Amino acid sequence: RLPVIAIIGRPNVGKSTLFNRLVGKKLALVDDRPGVTRDRREAEGHLFDLDFKIIDTAGYEDEDPKSLPGRMRQQTERAISDADVALFMFDARVGLTPLDEEIARWLRGTETPIILVGNKAEGRAAEPGLYESYKLGLGDPVPLSAEHGEGMADLFQLLQPLI
Ligand code: GDP
Ligand code: MG
Repeated sequence: RLPVIAIIGRPNVGKSTLFNRLVGKKLALVDDRPGVTRDRREAEGHLFDLDFKIIDTAGYEDEDPKSLPGRMRQQTERAISDADVALFMFDARVGLTPLDEEIARWLRGTETPIILVGNKAEGRAAEPGLYESYKLGLGDPVPLSAEHGEGMADLFQLLQPLI
């Protein structure tokens, strides 16, 4: 069976953009509005010579923001338990938000290996956010630009021994 990678993180950090890049088709809807991917999506993905199944976790549109963390937690925990490795993505330009810190707390107890990914890291604007992310206690962040395809070789190097 193919190894399974889950992409998790709060809405709008770029999960579906990375999913689309790894799958190579426009399968996941990408939108400027947060939380536009309604459903969990799965597809076969590739990164250099690695083949895997990739899970894109959704956000929820039209939902009471107060119920978002609960729904995200359910979905995040389900994705992680199905996965061999999880990519926890934050927006390195924005830096950490309370929801990122809450997700990091859910992740600390899990057995699934976590790779911390600082997305939107093209250019210098991401540097403060990348430094700030060390306080999550999830190790070194991988700077990535899902949109521009930067950092994919570094992601590969971390993924390869885990899957
Ligand atoms: P999701 O809600 O986490 O699935 O996020 P999306 O993939 O839908 O992306 C949300 C927004 O961030 C879209 O406007 C994307 O074009 C943008 N985005 C995604 N990746 C990058 C990136 O590497 N750099 C920048 N600057 N924007 C990005
Ligand atoms: Mg999405």
